[in-house]
Amino acid sequence: MKKVYFDNAATTQTDKDVAATVLEYMTNTFGNPGSVHAFGREARKAVDIAREQVAKLIGAQSSEIFFTSGGTESDNISLKGVAYANRNRGKHIITSAIEHHAVLEPCEALKKEGFDLTILPVDEFGRVSVETLKAAIRPDTILISVMFANNEVGTMQPIAEIGAIARERGIYFHTDAVQAVGNWPIDVKAMNIDLLTMSGHKFHAPKGIGALYVRKGVRIRSLQQGGGQERHMRPGTENVPGIVGLGMAAEKSLAEMPEKIDRIQKLRDRLLAGIMENVPEIKLNGHPTLRLPGNVNVSVIYIEGESLLLNLDMKGIAASSGSACTSGSLDPSHVLLAMGLDHATAHGSLRLSLSKMNTDEDVDYFLAEFPAIVARLRSMSPLYATRGSQAAQRCESASCKESECEIRGS
Ligand SMILES: *Cc1c(COP(=O)(O)O)cnc(C)c1O
Repeated sequence: MKKVYFDNAATTQTDKDVAATVLEYMTNTFGNPGSVHAFGREARKAVDIAREQVAKLIGAQSSEIFFTSGGTESDNISLKGVAYANRNRGKHIITSAIEHHAVLEPCEALKKEGFDLTILPVDEFGRVSVETLKAAIRPDTILISVMFANNEVGTMQPIAEIGAIARERGIYFHTDAVQAVGNWPIDVKAMNIDLLTMSGHKFHAPKGIGALYVRKGVRIRSLQQGGGQERHMRPGTENVPGIVGLGMAAEKSLAEMPEKIDRIQKLRDRLLAGIMENVPEIKLNGHPTLRLPGNVNVSVIYIEGESLLLNLDMKGIAASSGSACTSGSLDPSHVLLAMGLDHATAHGSLRLSLSKMNTDEDVDYFLAEFPAIVARLRSMSPLYATRGSQAAQRCESASCKESECEIRGS
């Protein structure tokens, strides 16, 4: 059976060249960068080169890059590190309703510690309004955290505008750019970004490696004490294989970027057009144009996303759903709800996320299988038979506490 991987927003396949380099730095070149001997010096040199490669990808200086274990850690260091270091200047933090849990939960934790939190709403496309942001700013606002591109619906935020406002008001601006780094051009200087989160496994580097960009001069405190690695920001022996892999993935994605965006976008557009043409009652979620090149998110009305995923999986197709909850509960995605979707529509959401590894054959195969799966599920669906009225009732009664739910679709 053919296998199609359309879940690249959850994780990507490690690039073959990257994997070869990672292996080299686990076997032959295995020194500790902190050691003074030749083995150590060789590892140190590799880490320095990787730092330059990562910096170049986002227009930063290499001294502004800190290696971490990934997106979640970089988000935590940004939010808590800036909050703790600047509490004498103010206690107000602004974020948005569609952030990843790696941002929302540290924000909620800070609120419990006495910080004030404003969570900006989004429009029907998942975009933050710059005017609403401006109105939310207070004299004691110290940090704005708005993601670059959303992991569920792919919507891109007005990052440069937000950066300009934050800079003008003297407020730090952090962006979780995990979904955008390597997939979309980023220039932290031009966009006035003070802190940026990235994660290797979302752009063909291994899992468990990421980086945090901190603009020179930003007041931030590290959350961990130990050795002096990463200039005390993130102590602990460096993950040299991961760091070298991240560097290579950064360099490759920068070189591939324009051609890659074009190719993935064409595949995505054909996939979406094929779905729209061949399956009735589909709603596109997210912005029609201001979205990541590889993201498709649709609601297949009257069907549970979960049953779609299972049926696609039986055909070898990996996708994700905004209603996928590992606990088996029915709580729909906070992103889709923030965009104003009703529970029934949110439950029917399907995310297909493409990467440079996908091909025309993948799209053909999906389009050949998908309409029949939807038709069969709808024919069995009591929701489809009663067309909506019952669906709304049923889903509103299905409640689930946030804490019971794991992060869906990462
Ligand atoms: C995947 C993801 C994260 C978490 O990154 P990890 O490296 O898996 O910890 C954070 N934010 C966004 C937007 C993501 O997509």
